[in-house]
Amino acid sequence: MREAPWVHQPQRNDASQNSYKGSDKQTERSRLLFLMSSVYPRKTSPPAMDKKANNKLQVDDTIPSDIDIPDNYVAHTLKTQKALPPFSWNNWYNEMNWLNTAILTISPVIGMVGAYYTPLQMKTFWFSVFYYYVTGLGITAGYHRLWAHRSYNASKPLQYFLAIVGAGAVEGSVKWWARGHRAHHRYTDTDLDPYNAHKGFAYSHIGWMMLKPRRKPGVADVSDLSKNSVIRWQHRHYLALILIMGFILPTVIPWLLWGDAKGGYIYAGVLRLCFVHHSTFCVNSLAHWLGEAPFDDKHTPRDHLITALVTIGEGYHNFHHQFPMDYRNAIKWYQYDPTKWFIWSMQQLGFASHLKVFPDNEVRKGQLTMQLKKLRETQDTLAWPSDSNDLPVISWDSFQEQAQKRPLCLISGFIHDMTNFIDEHPGGPHLLIKMIGKDATTAFFGGVYDHSNAAHNLLAMKRVGILSGGHPHGLEDKAIPPSQRLKIARYNELSSPYGSSTAYSDGEGMAY
Ligand SMILES: [Zn+2]
Ligand SMILES: [Zn+2]
Repeated sequence: MREAPWVHQPQRNDASQNSYKGSDKQTERSRLLFLMSSVYPRKTSPPAMDKKANNKLQVDDTIPSDIDIPDNYVAHTLKTQKALPPFSWNNWYNEMNWLNTAILTISPVIGMVGAYYTPLQMKTFWFSVFYYYVTGLGITAGYHRLWAHRSYNASKPLQYFLAIVGAGAVEGSVKWWARGHRAHHRYTDTDLDPYNAHKGFAYSHIGWMMLKPRRKPGVADVSDLSKNSVIRWQHRHYLALILIMGFILPTVIPWLLWGDAKGGYIYAGVLRLCFVHHSTFCVNSLAHWLGEAPFDDKHTPRDHLITALVTIGEGYHNFHHQFPMDYRNAIKWYQYDPTKWFIWSMQQLGFASHLKVFPDNEVRKGQLTMQLKKLRETQDTLAWPSDSNDLPVISWDSFQEQAQKRPLCLISGFIHDMTNFIDEHPGGPHLLIKMIGKDATTAFFGGVYDHSNAAHNLLAMKRVGILSGGHPHGLEDKAIPPSQRLKIARYNELSSPYGSSTAYSDGEGMAY
């Protein structure tokens, strides 16, 4: 057995003695590899061969493929890597992936024609539904949450089970699937996302498989999966597994148990496969199109019950893109997420462990951010009183002089123009007229009547000036109308006394 060359580098030897010494000549890459080897010691040996028979060097797939990734990778790649010409009526024939197109179109045709000529037995129907869930869970609990996202640890028997039933969904090997899915999460909604939702519903649903991609998906590391013996085993036997699990087993079981081989093949084999296919495809299309964004609306992923129902619980996709390593998609107990229930049950039975859950405090912070954003949108549609900074400062004499010409009234240091309101004053016009040219603060705030929030809000809209020297406490409750006391402000709109005086320390006082 041969180890990868970097294993024998001196840094690695140092690692075994737990005494890392830096070297000027050391490259960033080997330093990183050293750090990884000490933090994540290799448990399995690398593949026996990393060279082809002709001695031509092959990529060692146990080393992270993005270890040398430049900091400006996305912008650089999109700028420098030329995309293939767009699809058009002239080139579409050459740009189709005919193998995928055949698989994805012939199977529903066989299924529908077969169903027309094959009566559906009740037992076969229920077996087909059951087998849909079993093979679907292979994708959702296995391919997706276990391998693409490492959201829990699975014992070897559970891994073999998921790899085998997942093959029955005929969606490619775990390694291929997880690589694309990791790129989808890393480059969501960009041209490096293999199922970029911005290219339309049909493209993200199925088009990306039927057409040759215009660009290679962005780099995404699957070296952890390359080291996994179950995944390597599935990759090696993939063709046999899809034939057995996709078609032979769902035909043989109904045949042996209730003599319905043809029904088993058509309903539990072919048609069930079409349903599993489109169920998974909906995660890339429907889940990026239908529903709400309660955690973050920067990208297209959405939460919706309908999507959850058709994808075995993968429909809380806005949550999932925010917290991809969480083993749950739905966080509430009553939300439909059978994949989560399956993983949890496997933990209860001792087949799964280390179920990852994102800190609830941060989950709720994400929700609050979106709620505040919505409130802010509502706030921005309303008219608000003039700010003290925007109002003219008026002297007492000038206030008196102008109050002769129009009904001006002083409350909390602000001068208000009561024109058009005197007749509408619920307490009667006389109480207002009495206060023209006077300070009505005490009367307004309970001296005569403790006015309502609505009255205070409306009053603030009538501000026309500030009395010079008459506005001593700008942040007093009386000067701030109730509607503005919890007003949402962006961080750059706050005039915090601490805003410009961040305290620096020399690093000694760092919090733990
Ligand atoms: Zn997605
Ligand atoms: Zn995902």
